[in-house]
Amino acid sequence: MEGVDHLAHERNKSEFDVDAMKIVWAGSPHAFDVSDRISKLVASDPGFRKDNRSTLSRKELFKNTLRKAAYAWKTIVDLRLSEEEAAKLRFYVDEPAFTDLHWGMFIPAIKGQGTEEQQQKWLPLAYKMQIIGCYAQTELGHGSNVQGLETTATFDPQTDEFIIHSPTLTSSKWWPGGLGKVATHAIAYARLIVGGREHGVNGFIVQLRSLEDHSPLLGITVGDIGMKFGNGAYNTMDNGVLRFDHVRIPRNQMLMRCAQYTCLCMPSDAKLILEPCILIRFWTSTAVCICVYCSHVMVLGRGSRLLGPWGGKTDFVYSQWSAVCGGPVGANGKVVLVVVVVLVVAAIRRGRMAAAIVGFL
Ligand SMILES: Cc1cc2nc3c(=O)[nH]c(=O)nc-3n(C[C@H](O)[C@H](O)[C@H](O)COP(=O)(O)OP(=O)(O)OC[C@H]3O[C@@H](n4cnc5c(N)ncnc54)[C@H](O)[C@@H]3O)c2cc1C
Repeated sequence: MEGVDHLAHERNKSEFDVDAMKIVWAGSPHAFDVSDRISKLVASDPGFRKDNRSTLSRKELFKNTLRKAAYAWKTIVDLRLSEEEAAKLRFYVDEPAFTDLHWGMFIPAIKGQGTEEQQQKWLPLAYKMQIIGCYAQTELGHGSNVQGLETTATFDPQTDEFIIHSPTLTSSKWWPGGLGKVATHAIAYARLIVGGREHGVNGFIVQLRSLEDHSPLLGITVGDIGMKFGNGAYNTMDNGVLRFDHVRIPRNQMLMRCAQYTCLCMPSDAKLILEPCILIRFWTSTAVCICVYCSHVMVLGRGSRLLGPWGGKTDFVYSQWSAVCGGPVGANGKVVLVVVVVLVVAAIRRGRMAAAIVGFL
């Protein structure tokens, strides 16, 4: 019996311009063109068939995904597809795979958080898929609460390396796609520790598996987390578990676009001068704001007509300060206020100034 194409029937009844709607939906004529060409390419190629997905076992599903990902890559290279077209092709292949994390998380993390030098080193390898990356943030005990991550990255000044370590069971990386079987590298998020002091969570490029025989490197315990409940889609993905046992990586594998750790190693007798250089723009802008506010209070004075609506803000500063002092403040009180603000700014900038000067020089 011939099937009835209800969808086509309903579409034929539409009272608006379907072609115009397609362009609105895609975003632009160009976006529609790319989408249309690539969707037809995927639909017409038996190498991308999807009809057997719900009947395959987990192992077969995963092997099928590996085959499809390789086939998609060959198609992208053979047809010389652009980055935009390649992304659309993966979208229409529509099968969660390690490539999603490689292209969707690993590469963007290096682009967004890596310095230019780091991008020059790692991106060409990643673009050619000579290394395959995953994004290892979530831990067994910590998902949404990223500040709670327990993996540590402790700086060793003797060797100019970071030691990546999973100190507890709950610090085991858990879930990252592509990690279980495929990834050779990870962007691993860990608490940065320098000289016993913590500097928050940062990303580190860590090699997990040998590029020769794909075996896990020394100190790396890695595996697949197994079957997942659901409609089967994510069983095409090798979500993984990962533990680090004092894994050493060079200092320049910390992603340093937003937070830098500079180390000045003196040439003679391994004398080491370390300067923590956490250049956090937030603090700089906070310091600038406080300085502007401070000079605003000092120069223009309370309730100045020149200030217009800002005069009220000056009043606010004085009223807060008066509250702290327990009553209206006179000229001496104002001087104390200025000194306090300057001291706060100096405290914020302390420890960063030397490193910043060295960095800028
Ligand atoms: C299929 C899949 C693939 C994944 N791939 C990756 C990957 O490649 N790399 C990676 O690092 N991670 C990956 N993850 C992990 C994912 O990022 C985490 O699952 C996510 O961050 C949530 O963490 P959680 O599962 O521990 O849930 P929890 O953080 O424990 O949250 C549990 C529930 O509590 C709610 N909740 C949490 N915090 C709050 C709050 N403050 N206020 C109100 N409600 C709250 C949440 O909304 C949720 O409903 C993947 C997860 C899945 C399911």
